[in-house]
Amino acid sequence: MSNALFYFFAFRALLRRTIITACLGVVCNAAVAQVQLVSPPDDDPQRTELTEPFEIIDGIYFVGGRIHRPSYLFTTSEGHILLDTTFDESVPEIVANIRKLGFDPEDVKLLLSSHAHHDHVGGHSNMREITGATTVASAADADVIESGGKTDFRDTGLWPPATVDRIIVDGEQVKLGDRVLTAHFTPGHTKGCTTWTTVVEEDGIQYDLVVLGGLNVNRTEPLIDNPRYPDMPQQFAWSFARLKVLPVDVYLGAHGYWYGLNEKREQMLAGGDTNPFIDPEGYQNAIRFFENAYLERLKNDTYDDAE
Ligand code: ZN
Repeated sequence: MSNALFYFFAFRALLRRTIITACLGVVCNAAVAQVQLVSPPDDDPQRTELTEPFEIIDGIYFVGGRIHRPSYLFTTSEGHILLDTTFDESVPEIVANIRKLGFDPEDVKLLLSSHAHHDHVGGHSNMREITGATTVASAADADVIESGGKTDFRDTGLWPPATVDRIIVDGEQVKLGDRVLTAHFTPGHTKGCTTWTTVVEEDGIQYDLVVLGGLNVNRTEPLIDNPRYPDMPQQFAWSFARLKVLPVDVYLGAHGYWYGLNEKREQMLAGGDTNPFIDPEGYQNAIRFFENAYLERLKNDTYDDAE
């Protein structure tokens, strides 16, 4: 491609993004549900009640039975990708949801994760056996997934150890059929925490989608001078810095409340002209919220060591 052509396409892409962002800013202010970034209490229906599976956008489905701990199915022309399996005991719910949508669990070819904690990879072993899928993880999280949580720096929550078949590096693309997912390492919450991005299309417009891997400072562990994770504060700072500059139109995450899954789902069911999950402003607000919580912990590193 000539230089002139290259600059033409680069400029056109930049212009498109600017126009979309400007339009969405107006739409979002008016239409998107107010997101409450508060973890629901133990008896909240978001944690306790099963939610029907549904399509979020462009072949990406919520299949992980509970709003609080979602599991995502990315369908492709060559089989499917499943991101997070939640708890071991929730695997039958996820499998049933995949079937309910008309897909075959045995068509799940890749098993990804947001981060190596029991509520996200607890079902990996079981799901790998049912689907025959290839498990994919960062080296740091793979070590913890394969130990069933025993090698984590945090003492809470063990799970059935699961084999990791493929180790990925930062920035690596995972491809299946017509779907490409890119791994962005965002360590801090776990050492190998991974944020995934892809491009989706709705009504002829392309959008950048992100699934946030983990943003919370663990409340059961010291952030500063943690002998089992000495550079945790620096890694969190590095992760926030890179998340702030990611191009994002649609954001999802390892927990529903991070992006208002409950509210946006209800808004979607109520109907409307725009997909409520297209929410670039909400993304920036969420990153700021979690970064501020991290900065507060840097000032006052109180944690709950009772667990
Ligand atoms: Zn976690």
